[in-house]
Amino acid sequence: MENCIFCKIVLGQIPSYKVYEDDEIIAFLDISQATKGHTLVVPKNHSSDLLHIDSTTLSKAIIIAQKIASSMMLSLDGIKGINIINNCGVEAGQSIMHFHIHVIPRYSSDDFVMHGSNPGNVNDLLKISEIIKRNI
Ligand code: AMP
Ligand code: ZN
Repeated sequence: MENCIFCKIVLGQIPSYKVYEDDEIIAFLDISQATKGHTLVVPKNHSSDLLHIDSTTLSKAIIIAQKIASSMMLSLDGIKGINIINNCGVEAGQSIMHFHIHVIPRYSSDDFVMHGSNPGNVNDLLKISEIIKRNI
């Protein structure tokens, strides 16, 4: 898609630090490293976000994210865990409207913040889980 940074990376029009590539998926380092090794898994075909990507491509992307996560666990010094994140929609922090999965290695001393500060009560949590279940 025209004017999409990730489509340009897929086409080789913008440089990237590639971690993985096959016919359908590319993975490269995020230009702004949340932690050392922060990688983006990107399907080559343009879909705007999680709600618009076809399930076959989504499955392939998450499998590659898993492979990269496994490789990170073996190869990055000091790694203790990994966050797999997708931001869906501008309000959720999505800034590039081409679907991608963040694979973020975690270290004991890193300053990446994941958890919010609203623990919620049991009744609310139950209600919310029931509401979300309805449309799966
Ligand atoms: P999101 O906010 O979930 O849409 O994530 C988009 C990510 O793309 C951000 O973490 C950016 O740092 C990253 N990014 C933007 N431009 C580039 C680029 N040219 N190469 C690599 N990563 C990029
Ligand atoms: Zn694109």
